[in-house]
Amino acid sequence: MIRIAIDGTASAGKGSIAKGVAERLSFPYIDTGAMYRSIALLVLEAQKDCHDVNDVLSVLDEVQFDFTWESGQLTTWLNGRNVNGLIRSKEVGVFASVVSVYPPVREKLSLIQQQYAQRESLVMDGRDIGTVIIPDAELKVFVDCDVDERARRRYLELQKKGESVQLVDIRQDLIERDFRDRNRKIAPLQQAADAKLLDTTNLSIEEGITKIVNWVQALV
Ligand code: C5P
Repeated sequence: MIRIAIDGTASAGKGSIAKGVAERLSFPYIDTGAMYRSIALLVLEAQKDCHDVNDVLSVLDEVQFDFTWESGQLTTWLNGRNVNGLIRSKEVGVFASVVSVYPPVREKLSLIQQQYAQRESLVMDGRDIGTVIIPDAELKVFVDCDVDERARRRYLELQKKGESVQLVDIRQDLIERDFRDRNRKIAPLQQAADAKLLDTTNLSIEEGITKIVNWVQALV
């Protein structure tokens, strides 16, 4: 069994690289950020407040996830509903990092993630995969990238989707999100001692994927 744990800062290319590695190796891919985003989405849809722990807990019981993979497209199903289009907005990303601080949210999602990780070889990405969810993963990677480059990439991505955004605001959101993720008490974002660092500042997605696939091949 080969479990690949990929953690890293926001918009460093983690998701695209993790997806590509999973595709090349024919492993399932679990996007744990999509789970935190889904919780934030449920709170926002219920017109409740992500900063209020009771509001967040009120949506937690009803949560069920499924991930499917078809023609290179990963779909996140939240309670049987395809939420791909809804969870990728800037707003949901910011609130995902707010709800991810609450211990009951982390406990619930960690349990689901650990169940996936027991079953088979897979690629899982997030913030605490190599440190908390699969501390004995066969390969751990920490993806990072210069913040200006991350802001530029995210700006282009959101612009392409038609979201009206400012580069300075995106840069600021990334800095705040990383700060919150790195400084929370439970499962903060950090590089595991035995994780390999992948700096994507000057790397394309394809180059990032190839590096990780080479590391996997060196394991066997
Ligand atoms: O990776 P993505 O940007 O989709 O994650 C959204 C947010 O969810 C992160 O900023 C982080 O606060 C939270 N998250 C987390 N632990 C994970 C994955 C995501 O706390 N394993």
